[in-house]
Amino acid sequence: MKRIGVLTSGGDAPGMNAAIRAVVRKALHEGMEVYGVNYGYAGLVAGDIRKLTRRDVGDMIQRGGTFLYSARYPQFATEEGQLKGIEQLKRFGIEGLVVIGGDGSYRGAYALTKRGFPCVGIPGTIDNDIAGTDYTIGFDTTINTVLDALDRIRDTATSHVRTFVIEVMGRDAGDIALWTGVASGAEQIIVPEKGFDITEVADNIREGKEKGKKHSIIILAEGVMGGNEFAEKLDAIDNFHVRVTVLGHVQRGGSPTARDRVLASQFGAKAVDVLKEGKGGVCLGIVNEKIIVRDIVETLDNMTHTPNMDLFKLNEEISN
Ligand code: ADP
Repeated sequence: MKRIGVLTSGGDAPGMNAAIRAVVRKALHEGMEVYGVNYGYAGLVAGDIRKLTRRDVGDMIQRGGTFLYSARYPQFATEEGQLKGIEQLKRFGIEGLVVIGGDGSYRGAYALTKRGFPCVGIPGTIDNDIAGTDYTIGFDTTINTVLDALDRIRDTATSHVRTFVIEVMGRDAGDIALWTGVASGAEQIIVPEKGFDITEVADNIREGKEKGKKHSIIILAEGVMGGNEFAEKLDAIDNFHVRVTVLGHVQRGGSPTARDRVLASQFGAKAVDVLKEGKGGVCLGIVNEKIIVRDIVETLDNMTHTPNMDLFKLNEEISN
């Protein structure tokens, strides 16, 4: 393959720019050309495509977000959208496509692959909710951002002897809550994979107080329910005067951590290797610290993501 395309799609994640940079630089190193597609699948269908040079990706490795922009474009689930997308790729002479994004973006790459257009999926989402990989680009940055906020909340929670519920992102997955819960020394972690019993949560808070704990911090994954709704349930049981913090979109932004930049660079370069060999229809992952290549159809059809639930058990053992 001589000419490839790259796009970012779905929710943006810190480290996406580092991945695009690696795709461009590695491709140029291999004597290939790279075209950037703006606004994900929306831009693909609209033909919003341009050649990327070495300089276009300069000064990008440290920036959050994605300079190719992202978009939600549900129409790409239709045959018409997909055929139009392939037509645009062919119009620009693009022979293979790197898709950086989450689960939904992978579905688009899967659809193109099934129609005979070679794609490589790179897992990029703060939620870490993609099958076939231990980590996704953006997850490490996000948990560090959340941790920074949790440390600040802990200072004030301790000073006033309060119960805090902190709602964190993650969509349907509990990864962000599990990692930041353990890292911050939170008293309780509530994730969709486990569920909860509100009376047990209340009992734990009371027990903590009896043991002399100055605060109670509960990390709630957004996939369970909203923080305010959860706090209302707790306050209905006892007079906890629960304080709620919904961290929201601060969790998405910021400069990527070293780990995310390295991971993004490894994934970007590997995607080029794969396409150079003329392969497609795959997605990349990191498993036991090794970059791996999997069949995208097989991965989406047969694999599911499960967070590391050992962290849940660990937190129960060491948080009280
Ligand atoms: P993420 O990639 O972060 O999971 P979304 O779920 O919003 O984010 O998906 C990103 C984009 O991928 C969608 O806006 C759409 O353009 C495309 N997409 C999602 N599902 C499909 C599908 N079933 N078939 C084709 N394209 C899809």
